Amino acid sequence: MRRKLAAGNWKMNGSGAALAELDEMAKAASNGAEILVCPPATLIGAAASRAPGLAIGGQDCHARASGAHTGDISAAMLKDAGASHVILGHSERRADHDEHDEDVRDKCGAAWEAGLVAVVCVGETLDEREASNTLDIIAGQLAGSIPDGATGHNLVVAYEPVWAIGTGKVPTTDQIGEVHDFMRASLERRFGPGVGRSVRLLYGGSVKASNASDIFHVSNVDGALVGGASLKAADFVPIVDALN
Ligand code: PGA
Repeated sequence: MRRKLAAGNWKMNGSGAALAELDEMAKAASNGAEILVCPPATLIGAAASRAPGLAIGGQDCHARASGAHTGDISAAMLKDAGASHVILGHSERRADHDEHDEDVRDKCGAAWEAGLVAVVCVGETLDEREASNTLDIIAGQLAGSIPDGATGHNLVVAYEPVWAIGTGKVPTTDQIGEVHDFMRASLERRFGPGVGRSVRLLYGGSVKASNASDIFHVSNVDGALVGGASLKAADFVPIVDALN
């Protein structure tokens, strides 16, 4: 059985004061689903101390363990600060920082080396979907962004159609199901049925309380990666509740 996972991606939002939101989120954490919050790196230490019942994650890491990389943060540093997870290959990183599959793969290896769970993001653009290339894009990103050695304990995959992120547009449940079933089958083929069946698959892109329950009923959807609606407990907790 795959444990359901509600993951929040705060992106470049939040402050010390915003950590008060974690208190209500932590109360929802005893209900079954695992809750992961990924605040900006500056808040990881404080978030981990404040809410030990929540998993805390980073939003990116460097592929190297240490060295002359001004402004970057290694996976080991995230771990040291109290993180257990790290989001990798988010489409905003791929677009804003020119990250390609091979960069994501290297970062994923670094995350595993440091003992972090990697939440690897994949997803097509609107042009790619309209050209009927969605499954090819997803296949390429899965193959290229995940190194050998995946297990149900070190990897979570998030399907995030780029056109659904922050736009209020959500794919149909059939479209989500098609991609999630495809991802499950590809992971089973590559890593074997045991591992392939144990990796959790999240949907992300404009998830909110009003659509969460429909999305969570789709086959092979094990939870959500939530951006905007993860900043406030009043928005996020109902999404967590829809998983339970
Ligand atoms: P959104 O973002 O929920 O604000 O659409 C999702 C994400 O980018 O992870």
